[in-house]
Amino acid sequence: MFRPRQASRRSFLSTTLAVGGVSLAGLRLRADDRPALPPPVDFHTHLDNSTIEAVVALGKERGVSFGIVEHAGTKANIYPKVLSNDAEMSAYLDMLDPYPVYKGIQAEWIDWASCFSKTVLSRLDYVLTDAMTFPGPDGSRIKLWEADALKVVDMTDHQAFMDRFVDWNVQVVETQPMDILANVSWLPAPLMPEYDALWTPARIDRVVQAMKRQTVACEISASYELPHEAFLLAARDAGLKFTFGSNGRYPKMGLLDYSRQMADRLGIGPDQMFRPAPDGHKAVQRRL
Ligand SMILES: [Zn+2]
Repeated sequence: MFRPRQASRRSFLSTTLAVGGVSLAGLRLRADDRPALPPPVDFHTHLDNSTIEAVVALGKERGVSFGIVEHAGTKANIYPKVLSNDAEMSAYLDMLDPYPVYKGIQAEWIDWASCFSKTVLSRLDYVLTDAMTFPGPDGSRIKLWEADALKVVDMTDHQAFMDRFVDWNVQVVETQPMDILANVSWLPAPLMPEYDALWTPARIDRVVQAMKRQTVACEISASYELPHEAFLLAARDAGLKFTFGSNGRYPKMGLLDYSRQMADRLGIGPDQMFRPAPDGHKAVQRRL
């Protein structure tokens, strides 16, 4: 089994293959030749306030492997860092390449893929997206977790908003070349107290069936402690794959209590956990 060490993934492979008497000379490693990182994997970690070296060291300490995501999309998306073209994406991937981590992005809005070539996107191990940025009345990008969102997006009728929000979740899943839906079933603060009533079986089913159709994995978010059990049961019974995610910035990453507890409780085993698709089968390769 692959164990992250100070050595890079590539030098680990070299060592392994050399021990096996196989020379690496002239061989070009493909994505699906790489060994899987040992579980559990936190597929939703951000480098914002840290470095890849510090994050890898923390993973060793906590016995967790990491998938790193950087925000990606047009510059209309405001984050500390947003990858917006092939050069920026390539530099990010080059930076991660030597380390035993999965390489991902957190894709923003529904126009992000147009910023990049398929060739560069194919270097990613996975694409993660959520539905928390929502269209305002003029189509602008409203971050529903920010207090100002309430001034722009009408949520006074919870049922009506919920219907629009479910439509948006389905639209994101159906149109974006994504591998993982993150922060699944998250709701804006005014609706959260009614979470279990608002996420009716019919609404859950619409999102789950869209994920099933598009082969999108369901994040079990350790930070939000979402989705709740009814949603996860529907996802499990539909045959979705699952990921664990902290949405963490250093050092709040790899802390996966809720994710692991729910997987245990629902009997979600290793076969039901997402693994990055081999080269040729990634969402960006299947859907672009
Ligand atoms: Zn995130």
